[in-house]
Amino acid sequence: MTAQDYIAQEDRHGAHNYHPLPVVLAEGRGVYVYDVDGKQYFDFLSAYSAVNQGHCHPRIVGVMQKQSSKLTLTSRAFHNDQLGPYEEFLTDYFSFEKVLPMNTGAEAVETAIKLCRKWGYEVKGIPTDKARIIVCGQNFHGRTTTIISFSSDPNAKGNFGPYTPGFESIPYGDVDALRAALANDPATIAGVLVEPIQGEAGVFVPQDDYIPSIAAACREHNVLFIADEIQTGIGRTGALLRICGDCSCAGHCERQSTYTRPDILILGKALSGGTYPVSAVLADDAIMHVIKPGQHGSTFGGNPVACAVAREALEVVVDEKLTQNARQLGHLFRERMQELVDRHPDTLRLVRGKGLLNALVINDSEDSDTAWNLCMALAERGLLAKPTHGNIIRFAPPLVISEAELREACDIIAATVANLSVPTA
Ligand SMILES: *Cc1c(COP(=O)(O)O)cnc(C)c1O
Repeated sequence: MTAQDYIAQEDRHGAHNYHPLPVVLAEGRGVYVYDVDGKQYFDFLSAYSAVNQGHCHPRIVGVMQKQSSKLTLTSRAFHNDQLGPYEEFLTDYFSFEKVLPMNTGAEAVETAIKLCRKWGYEVKGIPTDKARIIVCGQNFHGRTTTIISFSSDPNAKGNFGPYTPGFESIPYGDVDALRAALANDPATIAGVLVEPIQGEAGVFVPQDDYIPSIAAACREHNVLFIADEIQTGIGRTGALLRICGDCSCAGHCERQSTYTRPDILILGKALSGGTYPVSAVLADDAIMHVIKPGQHGSTFGGNPVACAVAREALEVVVDEKLTQNARQLGHLFRERMQELVDRHPDTLRLVRGKGLLNALVINDSEDSDTAWNLCMALAERGLLAKPTHGNIIRFAPPLVISEAELREACDIIAATVANLSVPTA
């Protein structure tokens, strides 16, 4: 079958709920993926930052193979010998007392919402069904009915109603708006749910004091601060978690003061290095204890393969110093892209980001197809990236990328932009 055959087959038999670049991938290794014709590409999407540890990391794949030939699924009706060791490892790693294991990111966000609401009623004393959760405009937290109920994206939301009530949206990055929202009947507010950097929205990086300010305001009103680090977590932004600020370990180091601890931490994506759906919700006993047996769960959540894989994936992050690499190479990437922006102000507006989660904003309108065309041209030259909105391209390579590889990728981007910028008259 040719690439065209595979694309036509998907088109005939699959729901049209995505609009992929016309590239059919068959293999991946480290920072590279290969299409069905054997063409090599730099992967600068990393499956939306799920493949931080690089494609088919041998250690993670090795553990997955070993565990999957031993025991794959017990359900939580019984114990398994991987769950306890994983839970101890994960809670130590991120300095929380408890974890609730799930599979996908959206499920973990749902779990956090349920946990937050239940805490609101049973601990804070919010009257039945009155709990409110504050969220931000342009958020992306997943695709379930409840989560899209508080999306501001008409595509994500349109005709999927009736929507789940109990959410209030404020502008992202605006501490005053948050303080005002919290001051309005704080007795019925259970939580504030935020992405420390808005990834899907186009890599919007708030002011440095935004996250600490949210945490402080939440504490003042007895409201839970819920951090969705599904995309920003696990080394991506040059810190283990984005909420660590510029520190590379999650709270248990000498620079603890820069760490803003959320009450509920949501992880997914790179928790498995992109090999398997693994997500997690972390909180301390005082919050997690509200969920009792039978009140929440998932058949696959906490399965032995997921537990084994996630542990290895997190060990790889430490052993290969991926957060440090993301931080150092992130500076280099933005430096190179800034030179490009300066050279081609007609084509490029700006570069922004943290660590290896960056975006290039194209100097065109949001409904233009310039970013798409640029991504098509990049693919031609051997680099895969995906527009997020019509004029923003996110660049997020696997964190195992070397300096030489990053420089080569920057050269590809520079050559592509230069070519695009030449008047074709
Ligand atoms: C990807 C993502 C999700 C949803 O995760 P899925 O595994 O796709 O359900 C939620 N929040 C953020 C910030 C994400 O980037």
